[in-house]
Amino acid sequence: MGFQTDAIHAGQQPDPTTGAVMMPIYQTSTYAMEELGKHKGYDYGRTINPTRVALEKNIAALEQGKHGLAFASGLAATTAVSMLLSAGDHVIVTNNVYGGTFRYFDKVMKRYGLTFSWVDTSDLAQVRAAVTPATKMIFVETPTNPMLNLTDLDGIAAIGKEHNLITVCDNTFMSPYFQRPLEFGIDLVLHSTTKYINGHSDVIGGIVVTRSDDLHTKLRFLQNAVGGVPGPMDCFFILRATKTLALRMRQHEIGAREVAKFLASHPKVQKVYYPGLPTHPHHGLAKKQMSGFGGMVSAELGSLEAGKRFARSVKLFALAESLGGVESLLCHPVSMTHGSVPMEERLKFGLTDGLVRFSVGCEDVEDIIADIKQALDKV
Ligand SMILES: *Cc1c(COP(=O)(O)O)cnc(C)c1O
Repeated sequence: MGFQTDAIHAGQQPDPTTGAVMMPIYQTSTYAMEELGKHKGYDYGRTINPTRVALEKNIAALEQGKHGLAFASGLAATTAVSMLLSAGDHVIVTNNVYGGTFRYFDKVMKRYGLTFSWVDTSDLAQVRAAVTPATKMIFVETPTNPMLNLTDLDGIAAIGKEHNLITVCDNTFMSPYFQRPLEFGIDLVLHSTTKYINGHSDVIGGIVVTRSDDLHTKLRFLQNAVGGVPGPMDCFFILRATKTLALRMRQHEIGAREVAKFLASHPKVQKVYYPGLPTHPHHGLAKKQMSGFGGMVSAELGSLEAGKRFARSVKLFALAESLGGVESLLCHPVSMTHGSVPMEERLKFGLTDGLVRFSVGCEDVEDIIADIKQALDKV
């Protein structure tokens, strides 16, 4: 089936007891057994829940995967994935991954004896050079936040196969509508469903999708054994949202292309980061591995003062962390999401004091551009 058909139907049939067209919210912690040792496939709510199963099947279909596993947050999904590893194992990670992923690996998992190499994974030679006998996993994020650097998924999958490593891609920024890492041979694709997949800024959630029966069995065990599962109501909301994922992503992209074009032509903007611009260093790769360029745009305004003044002056854009919702959001990474990244680290990948990041929403494009224009006038 096509993407939109899957988005609306995969994992869902009219409810057998009532015919309800929408998947019911099975708000229950446990299920009555028919007799000792006999139940209908449902025993306890942490282990299994019908609303969650529907969501897992739905997103698995969208990613062209076989199995999905839903979690209470994107970081709970990352936690489950990291628990495939054991003390002494080494992981290669994209050097400018999501800040929360960095914090979790660096401040938590390091204490459990995992070691990490932070690598510019957009350069496959650096990835190859970082592989050691202890390496067990490559964890990439593409495009990255907020610099929008890309990693070659085909190349990462090949390195993974060659050295027998588990390859993981955080696909939060593109959503399965624009990028499907499993199609390139990546083993696990992961999302913060909080962002584009839910898209309405009202749920925190995460998901992992795979084609591997073996990894699915291990992760399903961990989902139950570690316990970071989402509630049924949250699953219902996310399932409701995937029905419009394609429509929203198309609109996000229409807006983002216009924003990138406008910013690139504005004299007060020194640099624009958007994979859809021919000037983007990874534009060729973007065209190869993504079917669109997404809704995120970053821009260099030259100084902390300019960044702050711009952030204070936008009206339609809410100044907020997070991204991927229908409403436009503006982020000043240095003072918001990336405050904990040491200055010399962030300057290495161009994350300067004057950088602002736009999550372009689904409002009328003219209104979005007008807001950016009036705020730039004040810089
Ligand atoms: C937000 C985000 C996460 C973490 O997800 P939560 O749902 O906030 O736990 C992971 N990766 C990326 C790229 C994100 O944007």
